[in-house]
Amino acid sequence: MEELSHFINGQRVAGTSGRFADVYNPALGEVQSKVPLASKAELDAAVAAAAEAQPAWGATNPQRRARVMMEFVRLLNRDMDKLAEALSAEHGKTLPDAKGDVQRGLEVIEFCIGAPHLLKGEFTDGAGPGIDMYSMRQPLGVVAGITPFNFPAMIPMWKMGPALACGNAFILKPSERDPSVPLMLAELMQEAGLPDGVLQVVNGDKEAVDAILDNPTIQAIGFVGSTPIAEYIYGRGCSNGKRVQCFGGAKNHMIVMPDADMDQAADALVGAGYGAAGERCMAISVAVPVGDETADRLIEKLVPRVEKLKVGPYTAGADVDYGPLVTGAAKERVLGLIGSGVEQGADLVVDGRDFALQGYESGFFLGPSLFDKVTTDMEIYRQEIFGPVLSTVRAKSYDEALGYAMDNEYGNGTAIFTRDGDTARDFASRINIGMIGINVPIPVPLAYHTFGGWKKSGFGDLNQHGPDAFRFYTRTKTVTSRWPSGLKEGGEFHFKQMD
Ligand code: NAD
Repeated sequence: MEELSHFINGQRVAGTSGRFADVYNPALGEVQSKVPLASKAELDAAVAAAAEAQPAWGATNPQRRARVMMEFVRLLNRDMDKLAEALSAEHGKTLPDAKGDVQRGLEVIEFCIGAPHLLKGEFTDGAGPGIDMYSMRQPLGVVAGITPFNFPAMIPMWKMGPALACGNAFILKPSERDPSVPLMLAELMQEAGLPDGVLQVVNGDKEAVDAILDNPTIQAIGFVGSTPIAEYIYGRGCSNGKRVQCFGGAKNHMIVMPDADMDQAADALVGAGYGAAGERCMAISVAVPVGDETADRLIEKLVPRVEKLKVGPYTAGADVDYGPLVTGAAKERVLGLIGSGVEQGADLVVDGRDFALQGYESGFFLGPSLFDKVTTDMEIYRQEIFGPVLSTVRAKSYDEALGYAMDNEYGNGTAIFTRDGDTARDFASRINIGMIGINVPIPVPLAYHTFGGWKKSGFGDLNQHGPDAFRFYTRTKTVTSRWPSGLKEGGEFHFKQMD
């Protein structure tokens, strides 16, 4: 069985802790490799080496650092098929979706090529007599990223791109479920010209995460994953004096107004609800049709579309709409939640539980499930399901529908489908959620905007990628400078007015 590694000081390094996690091929339901789980000592050694490498990288001019990013983009494009194949084999998502995963990360790296511009700082000429004032953005030193299984290319790149472009050294602790692509990304960064030790990939579980949280050299942590872990990391990281941003789970509502194009809304819901087997933090998991008549029309349009979805292994290429869940445990959890929905009285209009695929009997596949008449007290509404399950909560009015999304504890993304500009504008203005789609079901902002949820979907002050990432991975130093003919008057004992 293949034994994966860490990536330390420019090369793959075997784990020494003696602890491993199984990495599955979810389509076959078989263990395909083992990933080492780092000890605290291994993590600390990787950080110490990164701290040695960082000053020279931080002193490398931003344009040269950007050139490494430029070359990295070329290599990502060169190896796109290889990366997508490795990604699908461990995650289970379809090949086109895996390429999208790489592509959305690559776009953030493209944005990072603009680092010299973003790091220019601010300058006031003549802030006072003979006085200039300037602010510069400096790297923090060694920073870390802890990432989830569902985007094993995109989210590591969202973290490492800006962190490295700003001149930091970066410790990546990827998900132990699909660690191969993060290792490949580190090798490509190396090939692109990144000096040894500036990017370290340390595989692991809670032990490695806790070591990151407690390591005094690490200045900042960017986390993406489930909300309970986000809260834990935010709390412990902040109390250890680090800068921390954590992005958590979601329960994204899509409001369907009576005037919406119902075919368009149904198509959007099917893609956003079931794509990647629902394992997306921006998946739509709750449809909220306004009015019973709208709900009936929507369900009527949804059922044939949902029943037609093709579920299968990534090796079937573009013929498959979505693949298996990531692990057997994830599948069991989703099955349990569907059962609870039935028990608590929701209408299971399409039941995906008995799905079977010849030749893949042990795979972690689930057919698509569609619930109608879900109420907000049910477990299937209260929990993030993270599976191919769409719930319909019927609302009597626009205000009631808006209230469901606003009262939900999560605030990652939401969408409204309507032909009415006034309603759409009101929705975008009043809703307490970070990313809004108007007739767009998955409103993931592009690399030059920022990505982040509100409420229990996001902890910390700054978003991911876009200009916020450059703020997160740098700190501001402001210099007040005077080059007068001489300082002859002696000391000053009060704050000087810049007159
Ligand atoms: P997860 O919380 O289980 O794991 C995320 C990371 O935390 C992994 O690296 C994991 O090793 C580590 N971890 C897990 N348990 C830990 C513990 N007890 N102590 C310390 N570290 C621990 O999340 P996941 O299942 O990999 O990913 C799915 C979740 O991520 C979903 O909730 C999804 O909504 C969320 N997500 C959010 C965003 C966003 O931007 N808001 C994006 C993608 C995924």
